[in-house]
Amino acid sequence: MNRRTFIKNAGLITAVFYAMPARMAVCRKGVQEKLMLLRYDTEWWGEPAEMAGFLEKLVKVHRQDEIPVTMFCRGFTLENMKLEFTAFHQETADDPLFDMQDHSYSHVGLGYERGKPVDILEADYERSFQIHSEIFGRRPTGIAICGTSDDGPFLPGFDATEKSKAEFEMVVKLGTRMINSNLSGIDGSREFINYKLLGHPEVMGFVSGYSDTAWMYRKEYGDPVEYMLKEVRTRSEQNEHMPVMFHDWVAWQKAPDKELSHVREIAETGRKLGYTLVTHLDCYHNKQLWQKASNHMSWFPVQKD
Ligand SMILES: [Zn+2]
Repeated sequence: MNRRTFIKNAGLITAVFYAMPARMAVCRKGVQEKLMLLRYDTEWWGEPAEMAGFLEKLVKVHRQDEIPVTMFCRGFTLENMKLEFTAFHQETADDPLFDMQDHSYSHVGLGYERGKPVDILEADYERSFQIHSEIFGRRPTGIAICGTSDDGPFLPGFDATEKSKAEFEMVVKLGTRMINSNLSGIDGSREFINYKLLGHPEVMGFVSGYSDTAWMYRKEYGDPVEYMLKEVRTRSEQNEHMPVMFHDWVAWQKAPDKELSHVREIAETGRKLGYTLVTHLDCYHNKQLWQKASNHMSWFPVQKD
């Protein structure tokens, strides 16, 4: 291969890598620490009695197996189960295994093509943040974006429209420092980012995916645990991070048992395969993980004429 052909090919390979963020982690094999992020979107809207025992079991299981977890809680749910969450807070406030963050007050949509006006969204988030303050003694710094069916398609990123940019600016103003990785061209289930593109390099984007509403509640992939363990193994082989999104009501009301056995099995499998289990706040404190200037592979040998 002559030098010019090599340069051409190297350029082509680089272009392919840039176009395939999903594969980039493979290039970093042996360099990147694989992280597993378990979270519960905590959003139960019905009778508190139907969730009775859940928080106690969660504390017991996550402590016993030392499984760090982030709870993205709706303000409504905290209000609806105030006694339960106050007791939970008393038990876990000083325990770094439990990271308490936000999921809006009314499960409102952020980053959708037809969302509610920004001032309505702001009021919804502010209301939720205030309830967090009342119960947990602090405002949340993280948001997990809610899935909704009445706001139209989910936009490819917060950078997509003027309205979605304004929505992002609004949540940052409220104190948000971590939210789903949500920019055009970014694979939100695989990449940690920062939001420098929108003027906020201090805000982390985190990996998100594998909702149990799909694999456990709707059983879209056959046996739920078998499917998830297969996915953990695949991501491990590719040296990629592994996000898992449980929901309070799915884990308690739709799982095969009330021992959170499926959570334990997924966490244990991840650990055996070399994953480090972390909360979202742990990730935020790991600045190296998300504050890089870009996600490009800077070590790739670039040939110049
Ligand atoms: Zn939700």
